[in-house]
Amino acid sequence: MRTGTDLELFRLTKRYGDTVAVRDLNHLIAAGTYVCLLGPSGCGKSSTLRMIAGHESVSEGAILLDKADISNLPPAGRGTAMMFQSYALFPHLSVRDNVAFSLKMKGVGKAQRHARADELLDLVDMGRYAARLPNQLSGGQQQRVALARALITEPRVLLLDEPLSALDPFLRIRMRTELKRLQRELGITFIHVTHGQDEALALADEVIVMNNAVIEQSGPPRELFNTPRTEFVARFLGGHNVVRQDGRALAIRSDRMQLSREGTEGIAASVFGIEYQGTTVQIILKTPADEELTVVLPERDFFSRPFEIGETANVAWSEADVHALEG
Ligand code: ADP
Repeated sequence: MRTGTDLELFRLTKRYGDTVAVRDLNHLIAAGTYVCLLGPSGCGKSSTLRMIAGHESVSEGAILLDKADISNLPPAGRGTAMMFQSYALFPHLSVRDNVAFSLKMKGVGKAQRHARADELLDLVDMGRYAARLPNQLSGGQQQRVALARALITEPRVLLLDEPLSALDPFLRIRMRTELKRLQRELGITFIHVTHGQDEALALADEVIVMNNAVIEQSGPPRELFNTPRTEFVARFLGGHNVVRQDGRALAIRSDRMQLSREGTEGIAASVFGIEYQGTTVQIILKTPADEELTVVLPERDFFSRPFEIGETANVAWSEADVHALEG
């Protein structure tokens, strides 16, 4: 079902009165890509998504799908669909009728729309619940129904706004796997808004990090994680220390730092916090300049000779693990 349909954002801007929510965004999303729009609250992610969906007007610039300007088309005429949170399901309609709803609006006959709804319910592994009402389903099951309901319009681009935020952590990881599988199977573009870096790294072919209404950096997850361009990206993606040396900002991965009692190389710092994380232990230290450093050790290494809070330790790193940041 691969369509070869690229989505292009051209000088896309959104203003609400004096607030610039999205500023001059230029980006090409290749067809069939799983994209995560990642950034802190208020950075402009939802406004961008809502403009693509047609639920929010474009202040300046354009949105092009397969080279056609869709900026002024109604939501249903764009070739995009939005997966809404599960609580947006109609409570008085069965699961099957919820999924078939948009076909009913288009005047598709009952037998045909129910047959199509059942196919999509099978796709999201919900076929056996077709006759139930939404309140007879778990949160995760409702989420699957919401997904089937968005997919029935056969969108070329599926838009998802924080789709997993209402689920408990265990279900969230399961649904993550499901979303990725579905996207691969359908071969269409998914644009998924999240403020969770782990979610973006786990799901995306391309992560777009937004900050203050602009794109701060974009690229494949591993590239972004290993070579953050700015201090903001290094800190937001996590897993790095940002250290200032000779007026330059450097990023160093927390799991590549060495911690020792005897060492004289590096910085002497005081152990401030210790967090057990299962396979690893995270140690937070304070330098004499009151900067925080985080060192992640394999659980076995830590427990072979544990550090204690208040102890002084030497934090060192090798030049090979240092990555210079802009600014
Ligand atoms: P995010 O999804 O990253 O949290 P939003 O796109 O929702 O960010 O918001 C970006 C900025 O636009 C914020 O400053 C927010 O307060 C503002 N904003 C969003 N929606 C509206 C609105 N309907 N009216 C006025 N300001 C808005």
